[in-house]
Amino acid sequence: MGNGDEDLNETNSIKQLENEQEYAASLADARITAENYVLDRFDVVSKMNASSCAVPFEEVLDVAAHDLDFHSAIWEASTVILPNLEVQVVIDAHNKCYVTTGSAGYVGEEWEKGLNLPLGLRLPIRCWIHTHPFGSAYFSGTDISTVTRFQPIMEQAYVLGGEGHYGFWEQSRPEELDVYNEGSLDYTQRWGVMGEEE
Ligand SMILES: [Zn+2]
Repeated sequence: MGNGDEDLNETNSIKQLENEQEYAASLADARITAENYVLDRFDVVSKMNASSCAVPFEEVLDVAAHDLDFHSAIWEASTVILPNLEVQVVIDAHNKCYVTTGSAGYVGEEWEKGLNLPLGLRLPIRCWIHTHPFGSAYFSGTDISTVTRFQPIMEQAYVLGGEGHYGFWEQSRPEELDVYNEGSLDYTQRWGVMGEEE
């Protein structure tokens, strides 16, 4: 009695498992694709921007950090190649680019774990760029903790919330984030003592 149902349930749970495995495998592939996509764009953009400089490539400043094409590639990796997963990019003191992708299944700020320094990274960090794939560029509590912690060794940071929508932070103004919309300055997010007074 009821055997048919049990078989069906078993079949369904096996199917579900297979689907989950398939999803995990396709996600693992997408992560690699996304990481390579960003690294390739970094290579092209940075070589182009550094091509006219007489000094060694690793000493050239701002080879890609402020490049809108590079930002677009990171955004695309986060929202088109990946199913809205956070992408983190670190450009180190030798213009080496490191890319990591965030976890699945989290919504809002909870998926953010902040920055983990990649192995082999040369300090200082020239730029840390990460995405908010849900489409709003600001510094979350996690982001503020991250820049506060890394401020002595981090020069600049971007948070990307879409095409032309991003936040920009720099070491010399450690408690402010300039937020841009459609490419123009929209407002400045402030925190810390100064921010609370306003
Ligand atoms: Zn963030």
